[in-house]
Amino acid sequence: MNLLGIDSHCHLQDPVFDADREEVFKRAHGQGLGLIVPGYDMESSAQAIRLAHTHEAMWALVGVHPHDAKTFTESDQVRLQDWIHDDPVIGIGEIGLDYHYMNSPKEVQRAVFRQQAEMARGMNVPISVHSREAEEDTVAILRELPEIRGVLHCFSGSQAFATQLLDLGFYLSFAGPISFKSAHDLRDLVKWAPMNRILIETDAPYLSPVPWRGQRNEPSRVIRVAEIVAAQKNFSTQKVFDQVMSNTISVFHVAS
Ligand SMILES: [Zn+2]
Repeated sequence: MNLLGIDSHCHLQDPVFDADREEVFKRAHGQGLGLIVPGYDMESSAQAIRLAHTHEAMWALVGVHPHDAKTFTESDQVRLQDWIHDDPVIGIGEIGLDYHYMNSPKEVQRAVFRQQAEMARGMNVPISVHSREAEEDTVAILRELPEIRGVLHCFSGSQAFATQLLDLGFYLSFAGPISFKSAHDLRDLVKWAPMNRILIETDAPYLSPVPWRGQRNEPSRVIRVAEIVAAQKNFSTQKVFDQVMSNTISVFHVAS
């Protein structure tokens, strides 16, 4: 299969796509885009697997988001572990810490993040990490797990945080916010980040890039994200897609 690029993080199983999911998929697939669909709880993880089984160039991640950490059980852990053996499942995600919304207590978020990340490391699969207002604790937990591979999804943090993640071997994934008018610092960070460590994503249905800001986002718009990375790097969009594809293969082992 000859892909132009990959949206490394889009929630195509989200109910907002119930009415037109196949058209949304075709708009991306028709342009040569592969899709990585992460879960955010057990149900959405199961849906991601079902979608990946029935669509070309689509892969699933399974995991429980920090918002739902308080619901995570031992049997969920066992189920995640079983799912990893399923063919289209390529890693654990999205997992992490969110101290902004604080839908689950901090200690619970940390424990559930650590537990899922440890499992990923033990099974030699990558993780897709969500981190909001929790840079220090995110790095602390990742440091406990040397050699874990993964990506910080929808990166919008500080340069210090980015540096620590790169030192840990992590990749930075950029999304629609790099197109926002006021996001000068974030665009500087794109310019600064090493091209061989960048991934791109939409985080659809959230965070539509300009000029669709505020609308439902969809995977085909990862092209807009690539264009902005290209402008920052002074590369062609094609070159960005090519490099990002090889980065995505390095971290997620897709396209095999
Ligand atoms: Zn997400």
